[in-house]
Amino acid sequence: MSGKNVTEVRLADAVGIAEAARCLESGGLVAVPTETVYGLAARADSAEAVARIYAAKGRPDFNPLIVHVRGLEQAERYAHFPYYAHHLAATQWPGPLTMVLPRRQDAGLAPAVTAGLATIALRVPAHPVMQALLAAVDFPLAAPSANRSGFISPTTAQHVLSSLDGRIDMVLDGGATAKGLESTILAVRENDTWEELRPGPLDSEWLNLDYKGQDRPGERPSKIEAPGQLASHYAPGKPVRLNALEAGPDEFMIGFGAVPGDVTLSAGGNLTEAASRLYAALHEAARAHHPRIAVAPVPEEGVGRAINDRLRRAAA
Ligand code: AMP
Ligand code: MG
Repeated sequence: MSGKNVTEVRLADAVGIAEAARCLESGGLVAVPTETVYGLAARADSAEAVARIYAAKGRPDFNPLIVHVRGLEQAERYAHFPYYAHHLAATQWPGPLTMVLPRRQDAGLAPAVTAGLATIALRVPAHPVMQALLAAVDFPLAAPSANRSGFISPTTAQHVLSSLDGRIDMVLDGGATAKGLESTILAVRENDTWEELRPGPLDSEWLNLDYKGQDRPGERPSKIEAPGQLASHYAPGKPVRLNALEAGPDEFMIGFGAVPGDVTLSAGGNLTEAASRLYAALHEAARAHHPRIAVAPVPEEGVGRAINDRLRRAAA
């Protein structure tokens, strides 16, 4: 006997989802597909369950978690929604947008979820499996990405197992995730100003135009405490060289557009496709025998900003 716990892998059908709901009710940890990456879910109202997330991931306890809810009505039990947050919820939820909002005093969630902050991060996911799970339980789900802290985020059930097998109770296998990058995080303040804490799949051009169109007073603030925005993250465990035009002799090359590689993010130079493939490419590069990784340049536009944000941290 190894003493290691068993992680059950279940197909994300009605039976699997019902089983996952029971597991969560009793304080278990379940990896669940969302439209961004696989999340590691636990009931957000239980201090013990939330503590297990931090332990399984080896996550520093100053790094708060995103709380996933069914919709705006449930979200309003946990946070105050300034006008602009209501507007964003109406236009972007369900979807890959997380809002950091003033936390309600009576939120009643495990304090570790918010790492003791006066704010809370909330998201309404669009993935049918995560939605079905949220509908099956009567508590919100705290869910960071389902990987060991600091490593590459998972976009398949196999990726989850590669770092958390034996450390969590269950994986719901719903196939590869569509967007492939973690949600955009915006902090929205009481005075309706906002700040992007993490670039993601949400189109920032849309956001800037939308915000101007709202004719809101005041400037966007330039600084907010964002405890989890660690410089080194998404690390494949080998040196990563960015903006490479060709591979060195000992490098696994990740191509993009006209720059070829051992794998490519998108041969046609499509940024949406590149985002969806980024973590699978990094996982493959981590597994390869090459001691180093090189990555082709990715344009800093649209979701390319979010891709470059993750690549810079993988290289840090
Ligand atoms: P992950 O779940 O691994 O995608 O990471 C969640 C991200 O949300 C981290 O970068 C956290 O720092 C961020 N986050 C969660 N709650 C808050 C909050 N209240 N204020 C600022 N950032 C937050
Ligand atoms: Mg993460």
